[in-house]
Amino acid sequence: MNKPVIICVDDEKIVLTSLKSQLQHHFGTQYQIELAESAEETLELIAELKAEQQAVPLIIADYVMPGMYGDELLVRVKEQLPDTLSIMLTGQATADAVGEAVNRAGLFRYISKPWHEKDFLLTVCTALDSYHQKLEIQRRSRFRQVLANVISLALRDGDLSQQLHHALDSLLAIPELGAASAAVYLLDPATDRLQLQISAGNQGAFSPHLPLSGDQHGCQFFQPLTYQGHTMGALGIINNDGVQTCPELPELLTSYGEALAGIIQLKQYHEALERHNAELEETVKRRTQDLQTALDQQAKLNNILLEANRKLDFYASMDSLTSLYNRRFFMKLANSEVERAKRYQHPVTFMMLDLDHFKNINDQYGHLAGDHVLERISHLLTDESREADIIGRLGGEEFAILSPESTMQQASLMAERIRDRILQESFEFEGQHIHVTVSIGISEVDVNEEHIESAMNRADKALYKSKGTGRNLVSIAGL
Ligand code: GH3
Ligand code: MG
Ligand code: MG
Repeated sequence: MNKPVIICVDDEKIVLTSLKSQLQHHFGTQYQIELAESAEETLELIAELKAEQQAVPLIIADYVMPGMYGDELLVRVKEQLPDTLSIMLTGQATADAVGEAVNRAGLFRYISKPWHEKDFLLTVCTALDSYHQKLEIQRRSRFRQVLANVISLALRDGDLSQQLHHALDSLLAIPELGAASAAVYLLDPATDRLQLQISAGNQGAFSPHLPLSGDQHGCQFFQPLTYQGHTMGALGIINNDGVQTCPELPELLTSYGEALAGIIQLKQYHEALERHNAELEETVKRRTQDLQTALDQQAKLNNILLEANRKLDFYASMDSLTSLYNRRFFMKLANSEVERAKRYQHPVTFMMLDLDHFKNINDQYGHLAGDHVLERISHLLTDESREADIIGRLGGEEFAILSPESTMQQASLMAERIRDRILQESFEFEGQHIHVTVSIGISEVDVNEEHIESAMNRADKALYKSKGTGRNLVSIAGL
């Protein structure tokens, strides 16, 4: 790398020679001293140095020169090299000219001719220090900016590759790095190999098998990405001249690598959390669906069970041949009805019916015909009774009717109607006409009596009275 340049401009050769020997003697090891005899020559020299990207910390210019005065030249130099400091060296400059140079060209110092060597060298030394300090401040500010950029990425949303891209771009923008390309590699935990994650810049590929250390391998530099002592990958930097020597650069790269590793770690945690949440959501959704399905099935099952129970109750309470209440259920309903009548002291009558010589019907027409008659008689009883009446088949060819809110007179009328209808009815079965009669006994439930059974007994007795006195009769208990 070339040394930084100090340019001396004066139209007098002897002045130039003297300047060069003094500067060479004191600064020659670190700086290259270039001479120019005119403003024009100076500007040409500056163009060349710029093309070669050589640093020019200082220009020492005469004031009175043919063609262009020193203050004017320094303004032009400032345009080309804004960081370069300038010293004007003349015995003839007016206060105005010096003021002009200070204001427009940022003149660092003014030294009168003939100059005092020690004073001159001290001024040069101060200027060079100032130049380097300024560069250093600029560099630190750039480095700080790069780090701030990277750290701020951690707070931003967006996917990891976008964030890494931003990070690499801000790194490539540091001139001290002189990098043409940069890339982030992440360590694949399965294979323990580095895998390219993202790259930026315009240079070729990296060698993938380099050891993970902050060392330079030719034009490639690898900075490990370490987060809390755990190496997650590496930052690769590629350039043509190798990484420039700059004291803060390794420190910057270390901090940069740590920040980048932190961002990657954060992102990985975040992604893992999102994955976990998504899985959790999926599981909850699936479980909710399962639960809903189970609840639906349970509801269906409940309905089926309810229906089945309802049917069971129905079947348990009904006589299957006639669809009238069976004895057990009739007794249950009759009992509760009697209890109610007792509470309100309302009349209730009880009727016992038994078909006459039914055995003969079976014998003559067959059991199926008998069944048919029993079924038809049940319809007839339903037909002749009121909505509130409770009708039961107590067994075989024996029926009973409990009539709430009914007096003996009403019950007798109903019994007579039933008896007469059965008498009149011709039950047809398979072309045969069957005639049957019924014997009936009725009783009025004494609402002071405890149970229905005694009213039943009295009705039964009345029934037997009907049987005993010729059948096809209605008898009233107690008469
Ligand atoms: P009574 O006038 O004295 O009552 O004479 P009965 O023959 O009706 O009386 P008994 O009690 O001796 O006979 C009852 C008959 O009723 C016997 C049986 O064959 C018949 N029976 C009972 N239950 C059924 C049934 O479910 N279906 C048919 N077809 N017949 C039945
Ligand atoms: Mg009988
Ligand atoms: Mg009978």
